Amino acid sequence: MIFRQLFDPVSSTYTYLLADRGEAVLIDPVFEQVRRDAALLCELSLKLLWTLETHVHADHVTGAWMMKSRTGSRIAVSAEGGATCPDRLLQDGDRIEFGGRHLEVRATPGHTSGCVTYVLDDKSMAFTGDCVLIRGCGRTDFQHGSSPKLYRSVHEKIFSLPDECLLYPAHDYRGLTVTSVAEEKAYNPRLGALVGEGDFAGYMQNLKLAHPKQIDVAVPANLECGRPKDGVTNMSDPNWAPLSMSFAGVWEIDPHWVEENRAAITVLDVREPSEFDGPMGHIPGAVLLPLGQLGERAGELSKDKPVVAVCRSGARSAQATKILADAGFAKVANLPGGMLRWRAEGRAAEGGTA
Ligand code: FE
Repeated sequence: MIFRQLFDPVSSTYTYLLADRGEAVLIDPVFEQVRRDAALLCELSLKLLWTLETHVHADHVTGAWMMKSRTGSRIAVSAEGGATCPDRLLQDGDRIEFGGRHLEVRATPGHTSGCVTYVLDDKSMAFTGDCVLIRGCGRTDFQHGSSPKLYRSVHEKIFSLPDECLLYPAHDYRGLTVTSVAEEKAYNPRLGALVGEGDFAGYMQNLKLAHPKQIDVAVPANLECGRPKDGVTNMSDPNWAPLSMSFAGVWEIDPHWVEENRAAITVLDVREPSEFDGPMGHIPGAVLLPLGQLGERAGELSKDKPVVAVCRSGARSAQATKILADAGFAKVANLPGGMLRWRAEGRAAEGGTA
């Protein structure tokens, strides 16, 4: 099974990718990270079946709708959360299947009325949302929150899992990543084994937390599964060519498109002159500007034409796209695989040997 923990630094949200036999689910995707998450799915050759929400979030907008529009994934949320748009409404005890594995849905209300925890089939991990956080728990003072409900959810639905079951929360504000049932039973200052329901209610009543900054934006958007009001689906992706962003964060372009549109773009070769004129040859009409000189000489290039950077393997040219972006070039992309791939695909080259 593939498992990845992904982080959104603005909202301190964790998104979890689980996959088996090429089929994936994504728990709590974040709108602003959809491009990153889609790139990872693509690079790992995974088909996204479901986006799953642990609850209607108040601190970030979900990427569920955007991911659906990009990948065809379906949206599953708790039936109790009030969202109007999902493909599937989840009830306590439901299963979400992917590959040969599944997640069990456990209703764990308290932080909100619609909170759920997803438990992996072998009970080795559980995704607790804002129900159990690492040495903490979600607040209970809005979205129909209830400290008695949260207390019972944790003790009945989460602390009943095996002690060694790993717990993955929806957030951590200190960069902590994982805990376990045994640890939280022993050391959670709000919910540990010796803390009674009355102690917990007193603790929660006196947290004196500020009103969440994003709640007035995030909750209405999440009730619509993150569908943007204006219906804009492309997250203002550049549209001068069919580009895709790699998980490494580099805009990449298809070599076939480059070959067909050479006249409309600047092909920037960032290798050394000896390589440019060497056995691999170069793309016809390419401009030679070695990577080491690009910072100083970027001004020689037109900002009006899109620039596609190329090198031997696609590594130096990826760095070139960063340098050009920093220099104010808006339309820049990397040619992944570089001249090695270009030649292997039999595309037109000048100079070099056959
Ligand atoms: Fe929350």
